[in-house]
Amino acid sequence: MAASTEKINVREFLSKWDNDVYHTCAEESKSDVETLTKKLKMSAENVKELENVCSLDLLEPDTEERHLYDKWEYLENIPGDAKLMCVRFQKQELERRNQNSAHLIAVYRKFKYRQTDEHLMYDPGPDGSKLKDIPEDCRVIYPDVVLTVHIHRPSKVKMAKKLYEEQGKYEAPFLSNTLLVLGRQKLTDLRDMVRCVHDLTVAGDMSENPDMDCQVYAKDVFKSGFFFINDVFYNDLREDDARDYSKEIREWASQPPRNKNYETKRMEDTTFLDLTVKLGAPYLYMHQGDCQHLLVFSDIRLLTTEEPQDLRMYPYMIGRSNRHRTLCRVCGNQAARWITYNSQFTPENPCFFCDLCFRCLNYDSNNKKIGNFEAYRYFDHHAIV
Ligand SMILES: [Zn+2]
Ligand SMILES: [Zn+2]
Repeated sequence: MAASTEKINVREFLSKWDNDVYHTCAEESKSDVETLTKKLKMSAENVKELENVCSLDLLEPDTEERHLYDKWEYLENIPGDAKLMCVRFQKQELERRNQNSAHLIAVYRKFKYRQTDEHLMYDPGPDGSKLKDIPEDCRVIYPDVVLTVHIHRPSKVKMAKKLYEEQGKYEAPFLSNTLLVLGRQKLTDLRDMVRCVHDLTVAGDMSENPDMDCQVYAKDVFKSGFFFINDVFYNDLREDDARDYSKEIREWASQPPRNKNYETKRMEDTTFLDLTVKLGAPYLYMHQGDCQHLLVFSDIRLLTTEEPQDLRMYPYMIGRSNRHRTLCRVCGNQAARWITYNSQFTPENPCFFCDLCFRCLNYDSNNKKIGNFEAYRYFDHHAIV
């Protein structure tokens, strides 16, 4: 079981720190030392010592030519007189990678960023220059909090159950997206950002006419969904025909011997400030009937100028995964976009194709279907990010 924090009421968190920190920031222009002395209840002497010990200057080489280095050069060309232990270890590690190619390959294989195609950190521009381009009514409102949310890929419930029954193991859920959300945002804002292959499912065999316009995806037809956070079901009831997916679960839970009654709220009426969360605790996002995604809050902090300042950028994606691309079985190069059943030409059933190979193999020069098979549009996880 993953470790999690105590329950945090997001609104209380904001009001507590709002008083302590935002006021401190406002006073900062007076004097850093004076403010810190007051806030930390320390003598001015101790604050100055602390400032020296924690100084960012310690990360820089103690040489006359320090102005010649930029920060990226430090990462690759660490000077020998680095004072911090972690920097020395980093230097040793880089030297080992240079000398030992097997070690280098092993490191890169395990490197977590290999599995994440982008880490989209926000760059506020020199002296926050990007802020000027944001219309006044689209700027973030202070004070607010920023929550980091991790959405995982849907779990294969049957396979996970089988694995557990046969081997006593839990399948680790695979991280899909990491997003930043603001406390003032509605839960529906997050829901609209969750990308899932099952939302893109297109019903029906398209083998007779692969060019058929397929604008109706499962997400347009089956719009219901809920978050289950801290024992409360938050249902998305924006659409008139949306269903309360939690109803049957709540009925089941209320019967003996469980006798548990769960509360429900509307997702579209709830902001993140209204939530009580435990960081690290497993929560649930369910949609498309039974597509279940693990949802984890990993961080909560006050909104600062280091975060994107444009409201329209939130939920802000800071990481997305790039694994398990299903390749075309013919060229082995392109991502699969079609899945066929019962084709006489394929070595396996079902079989995956990219668009080009699908048409070359299964249709004649007049675009007529060859043989009896069924074809469906296919989207893997790679197609949605
Ligand atoms: Zn899903
Ligand atoms: Zn292909």
